[in-house]
Amino acid sequence: MRRVACLLEGVVQGVGFRPFVYRMAKECGLSGFVRNEGRGVRVEIEGEETVVDTLLGVLRKQAPVGARIESLQICELPLQGTCGFVIADSVKTQATQMSLAADSATCAACRAELLTPGQRRYRYPFTSCNSCGPRYSIVEALPYDRGRSAMRAFPLCAACADEYENPRDRRFHAQANACPSCGPSLCLLDACGAPVAVAEQALQGAVRGLLAGQIVAVKGLGGFHLMVDATNAAAVADLRRRKGRAAKPFAVMFQSLAAVRGQCAVASEEARELESSLAPIVLLRCRDAGSAHAPVVADVAPGNPWLGVMLPYTPVHHLVLREVGRPLVCTSANVSEEPLCITNEEAVSRLAGIADGFLVHDRDIRRPLDDSVVRVLPGGVQVLRRARGLVPFSLRLPVASDHPNVLALGGHLKNTIALVSAGRVAVSQHVGDLSSLAARAQLRRAVEDVLGLCGTRVQRIACDLHPDYASSLLADELALRWQVPVARIQHHHAHVAACMAEYGLCGPVLGVVWDGAGLGTDGSVWGGEALIVDAGGFRRVAHLRPFPLVGGDKALAEPRRAALGMLFELYGKQAESQVEAMFPDGEANVLVQLLEGSVRTVRTTSMGRLFDSVAALTGVRAEAGFEGQAAMALEMVAEGGDPSPAGYSLPLRLGSPAQIDWEPLLCALLEDRRRGVAAGVMAARFHVSLAEVTLKIAEYVGLEQVVLSGGCFQNRRLLLGAQSLLVARGFRVYVGMQYPVNDGGLSLGQAFVATHVHGENC
Ligand code: ZN
Ligand code: ZN
Ligand code: FE
Repeated sequence: MRRVACLLEGVVQGVGFRPFVYRMAKECGLSGFVRNEGRGVRVEIEGEETVVDTLLGVLRKQAPVGARIESLQICELPLQGTCGFVIADSVKTQATQMSLAADSATCAACRAELLTPGQRRYRYPFTSCNSCGPRYSIVEALPYDRGRSAMRAFPLCAACADEYENPRDRRFHAQANACPSCGPSLCLLDACGAPVAVAEQALQGAVRGLLAGQIVAVKGLGGFHLMVDATNAAAVADLRRRKGRAAKPFAVMFQSLAAVRGQCAVASEEARELESSLAPIVLLRCRDAGSAHAPVVADVAPGNPWLGVMLPYTPVHHLVLREVGRPLVCTSANVSEEPLCITNEEAVSRLAGIADGFLVHDRDIRRPLDDSVVRVLPGGVQVLRRARGLVPFSLRLPVASDHPNVLALGGHLKNTIALVSAGRVAVSQHVGDLSSLAARAQLRRAVEDVLGLCGTRVQRIACDLHPDYASSLLADELALRWQVPVARIQHHHAHVAACMAEYGLCGPVLGVVWDGAGLGTDGSVWGGEALIVDAGGFRRVAHLRPFPLVGGDKALAEPRRAALGMLFELYGKQAESQVEAMFPDGEANVLVQLLEGSVRTVRTTSMGRLFDSVAALTGVRAEAGFEGQAAMALEMVAEGGDPSPAGYSLPLRLGSPAQIDWEPLLCALLEDRRRGVAAGVMAARFHVSLAEVTLKIAEYVGLEQVVLSGGCFQNRRLLLGAQSLLVARGFRVYVGMQYPVNDGGLSLGQAFVATHVHGENC
């Protein structure tokens, strides 16, 4: 006889792990218990030695869908002579890591039940089970139990309690279990927030509204969406106008994979992602918009060959999409770039004047979770925005588990935060652009939330080097309050470190960061950087030749300003005549004067601004409606060009640091323009030059491991081009796949650097 205790860590709560263990132990005739604890799941089993070994073997090899076991510790215990096996009450020990599962899309069994007449949950919009439904979005405290989640407002009815207690039922210990008689229900509110219908009538009312071209706010898993008929041009235009979103693409929800195939080309790996329990927005190649086969109107993603597509992931979505029978625009319910609405009251007040109606329910959302965004590259699935379905998963760091707890506060745009504790790092959901007050409040809530859930005491804070980012300001405030040190991490160093953390690299690596903007250690604005990074820090080995830029935020909205800055660097005052036509009357002259006086100008090495400049000079885009629009347009235009064009000359001038000299490129581009070469050809040649210079830098530096990071590498043509040149020459190329290459990855990078100062762990 033998008794052992087994502590399992990883994603083990909210995935039906206890029922799984219970059934196995019962089958084997072992006694003991299984219970949730703060750190994971604890199993104690007692029985014949060989049978105990068998069960331990099962635990090592098998797990329920959605579970991910990261560590399994076993210790021997004295025999206790117990009989019978039970699921014991959860114990609230110190939760040192996020062991909880992420929210998961409605599973096939629940979907079938939802659509089968006569079933107890026929058309019930809150159907879920052990392998699907809300998790992280409803948790209030750990360990995860109904009583510590938003479901505590709904006591189980007798029928649901039977399922909950029946080891053979797929709702055995399912914390979010509910049915029409005991669970949450739908309600339809009018534009002013007054209730007009409930349950099935509410659903039907929302469907009628959508079919009539109305904008309906629909409460989902991690927040509200604004939905509108994607095949109705007037309705989509209405949404753009009311939401104040002129050109940025919207995502679309389709009823089924078959419906998606009518609109987009779907490869098998893309189909797998769409139908996965993550159910993210997948960027797919679009067929001709607005044609009979591709019903989504062009205005949904203007001029964009890619469309963000998702499938229904809650029963509410399944029911609405089935009834409507056409694709719906499905965009985060917020004003401009503000955070997502999660409460009914918030939605009604903040979306006043935007939504014509609200399809709400009475199950609270505890934290906002946007839809995650992914795309499929030849090397696999790449996450561009981490949120619903991916948090609170954490990543093991190569550090001791008693390493100081670090809170990293991320960047300013696409903000996320990260927490290091017990040797793991958990990156938060996408918080977003911190320009608005609402977003800053959301950042504070996200910090309180993650610390509250884990009960972690922070011993070190990390933030960006830029002192004015809202995240850096909060870092200072918290450091003062908690009396802990702050590590200020250079922006592009953090971009490289994020990728190193993902792959467990200790360096030295060459990090090539083609990015928008980040404050450099010399006080100028960096963004076209090559850094050697190791555990001791970083060294800047090359960068884009600097050029002046007028007017901070204005320059982001006006790619033509980057063109003017670069030409001014080459030709001084004479630059004016070359770009005059791109500016309103007389403005080019004013800007040249500002450049001459260096008033309100910064010097930058930003690759994002080089993209802007080229977009402006090729006539692709002189103005931009949202961040990255010019670069996106340039990438799209390049598709029409030569499939394998010759790059422009873009030499690397050696020195310390070396400089990427864009002068020959710009001159050749202007020459092409004079000769009337098509924009697509120029754009394609530009992309090739950048890929080639990446290789030049790698060969100059000579390190085998090369990390590609920064927002510009969201550009598929650039990424794949650079990657294939480097791989062909024997370099090992690393690109962030789980964590975004854009600023969404900064918190992870900051956490990694703050944990690895001066080689203490590598
Ligand atoms: Zn299910
Ligand atoms: Zn019930
Ligand atoms: Fe960045």
